[in-house]
Amino acid sequence: MSKGTLFDKVWDLHTVGILPSGQTQLFIGLHLIHEVTSPQAFAMLRDRGLKVLYPERTVATVDHIVPTENQARPFVDSLAEEMMQSLEQNCEEHQIRFYNVGSGSQGIVHVIAPELGFTQPGMTIACGDSHTSTHGAFGAIAFGIGTSQVRDVLASQTLALAKLKVRKVEVNGTLKPGVYAKDVVLHIIRKLGVKGGVGYAYEFAGSTFEQMSMEERMTVCNMAIEGGARCGYVNPDAVTFEYLKGRDFAPKVEAWDKAVAWWQSLRSDTAAEYDDVVVFDAADIAPTITWGITPGQGIAINELVPTPEMLPADEQPIAAEAYRYMDLQPGQPIQGTKVDVCFVGSCTNGRISDLREAAKFAQGRQVAEGVKAFIVPGSERVKQQAESEGLDKIFVAAGFEWREPGCSMCLAMNPDKLEGRQLSASSSNRNFKGRQGSASGRTLLMSPAMVVAAAVTGQVSDVRELL
Ligand code: SF4
Repeated sequence: MSKGTLFDKVWDLHTVGILPSGQTQLFIGLHLIHEVTSPQAFAMLRDRGLKVLYPERTVATVDHIVPTENQARPFVDSLAEEMMQSLEQNCEEHQIRFYNVGSGSQGIVHVIAPELGFTQPGMTIACGDSHTSTHGAFGAIAFGIGTSQVRDVLASQTLALAKLKVRKVEVNGTLKPGVYAKDVVLHIIRKLGVKGGVGYAYEFAGSTFEQMSMEERMTVCNMAIEGGARCGYVNPDAVTFEYLKGRDFAPKVEAWDKAVAWWQSLRSDTAAEYDDVVVFDAADIAPTITWGITPGQGIAINELVPTPEMLPADEQPIAAEAYRYMDLQPGQPIQGTKVDVCFVGSCTNGRISDLREAAKFAQGRQVAEGVKAFIVPGSERVKQQAESEGLDKIFVAAGFEWREPGCSMCLAMNPDKLEGRQLSASSSNRNFKGRQGSASGRTLLMSPAMVVAAAVTGQVSDVRELL
């Protein structure tokens, strides 16, 4: 087992005890809740006559079911309205801080917790959503959990978990123009596989991550889960502290200096021992795009869809399924594939830096005829910031729709859905069959810049040609 890593330190500091099952009972510093996985958990508490143990460590928002066009209440979808009301009532009853639509700070849970300063280094964080790994960008250990675990955390502020191994995923060097954090993580998942991280926490290390902004690090950690890792993290450094300083819930005045010293002490030791180490070179990473039905089925934009012979035997059956579902032939170029819908948003790529980068490529260009393209800010704060910079005007002038914050077409638990066999260029994180709301809809994952390149050309394109 690894020794001296941030993961070990944070795990040990939060260990309440070892359970008879051999699992660790782990204290959870911050519990993030939203409308989809919490109603049943609250009902289970009610059935047992339990209360939320630490409402002050619980933070709520709404994201999955929120419409991004018309947010007038009651929502047109009665099920969505029911979920909203349930969360509103539960937060009121249990005195939980709730960032509702119109509060000025509502948004995707993994966007708002960092931007409000709730997410901090050395924390254990849980949320009933797979992409909770995002918060690891701050040097937190953050787990996505199921509904019964949401109940456990509400009632006891602890989780029963088996300790993970730690793999150091090192990437060194400077990214080439047109290559982004999204490409880095798609490249890693492509190389290590979607199950490669099972049983591991991923520590993202090396000069490439050191050079990244916090928002870029969030993009990488967000998709650690897509590579099978239970969580992913980056050691906190000056970039982390700079991002956090002055945020609403970050430590203030004297507490700030103490906090920084504490956070620094949690970094993995220079002599830390890892269960595994893999090393990549940033120079080998090109704009990367998925062609199949798992985030691991990725290729560089200028590569061809792999033939079965190019793949390991155990990947060939899912590749065969992907060729059929995606309507792509082995050996064909992905570049030039016609797209129907282009979506920039989600907890992977719906932050202000993503929108700024997308706007650079949208400026002075026009969405191709027949393509539906839309931009969905990750939070109300992101939306407000983007509008103050005039990004919304750039998008609208280019023919994009400018929407209200929410998960939108990432999971399509709201009116934003693909129709029929539509092919979507998406900045989100999952390209599973039917993920974007149509049972036969198809998704290509890529960076926001690549989504805009697809939108303005009407086909999968190499963003480097637009630089
Ligand atoms: S944007 Fe997508 S992945 Fe992220 S929380 Fe929403 S539905 Fe989940």
